[in-house]
Amino acid sequence: MIKVQEVLNILNEWAPPAVAWEKDNIGLLVGDPGAEITGILVALDVTSEVVHEARERSVNLIVAHHPVIFHPVKSIRVDTPQGELLSVALSAGINIVAVHTNIDIADDGLNHSLARLIGLRHLEPLDAVTGHSRAIWMELSSMNGVAEDLERRLVDVKNISWRKQSIDEHTYRYEIHGPSWRMGEVRDLVRKLESSEPVDLGEVSLAGSVSGYGLGVMGYFDREFTAHEFLQQVKERLQVGVLRTSPLLDRPIRRVAVCGGAGSSLLPLAVTRGLDAFVTSDISYHSFHDAAGALLLVDAGHYETEQVFIESCTQRLKKELMDFPDRIPILPVRTCTNVVHYV
Ligand SMILES: [Zn+2]
Repeated sequence: MIKVQEVLNILNEWAPPAVAWEKDNIGLLVGDPGAEITGILVALDVTSEVVHEARERSVNLIVAHHPVIFHPVKSIRVDTPQGELLSVALSAGINIVAVHTNIDIADDGLNHSLARLIGLRHLEPLDAVTGHSRAIWMELSSMNGVAEDLERRLVDVKNISWRKQSIDEHTYRYEIHGPSWRMGEVRDLVRKLESSEPVDLGEVSLAGSVSGYGLGVMGYFDREFTAHEFLQQVKERLQVGVLRTSPLLDRPIRRVAVCGGAGSSLLPLAVTRGLDAFVTSDISYHSFHDAAGALLLVDAGHYETEQVFIESCTQRLKKELMDFPDRIPILPVRTCTNVVHYV
């Protein structure tokens, strides 16, 4: 049977924990990494209704975007809503994982899905995460299969490049380049090499930085939209009845950025980049003032801009788990956890 840890490994590869906001709380927050999985429920939030749904549908792993535990827990009392939820989950053997700011920032993460849903193409990060570029090097013998072992393992590490040089008849020097937040994986991998003696590693920071991951995503529409056409498209694709926007500008909309959830902090960057519009949520009155005249700022709702996670994570897990011998159900949540109502 597939174990919780194996799903965690897949999620960590897609959305590396190292790129998450440092104060975030992600990964396995409730449960047992060694537990065998009967099925996965993918949700945006973990509420007691969602835990109930997992039990009803006989699955014991919930993969959610918002962390079920965020602030430090000082007590788990069943007479509080959170204590009750955690107690029910634990006693029912339900495991709960969060992929939060790591999936916001990941390449092909939540914001890429949101951008594609709205119809944008040629996507790139709005605020790229620029891990400092680092190099790791080592010398390995070609005699005992260790060099081949390293090469086999390096294929699985994303965002890196490497080269090898012959030092003498039986020794290669390997040099691996990549962003600082990938180097932990490289060090772990070298530790696992089947070498009879410890491998000496050299490591150095290089000038420059490496990007590809980042907060928010920007892209282009295939054609110019009027402001009204653009807003209509956002409403239809995100299934939102009402949008809050800054004053409409008398200019075509083609280059647009998106950031699911609360993305107001990226507004200055969206303005600097000369974008025509920026779609996010949780926007303050003063941010609308800041945007007025510069770009079309659109608040499409927190749940509405992030719900794309449910389908994209479900599809990703289905694809990644396809080759496992055991087939388990991977289900998008049915419970709507949007707590904001429009009246
Ligand atoms: Zn959110």
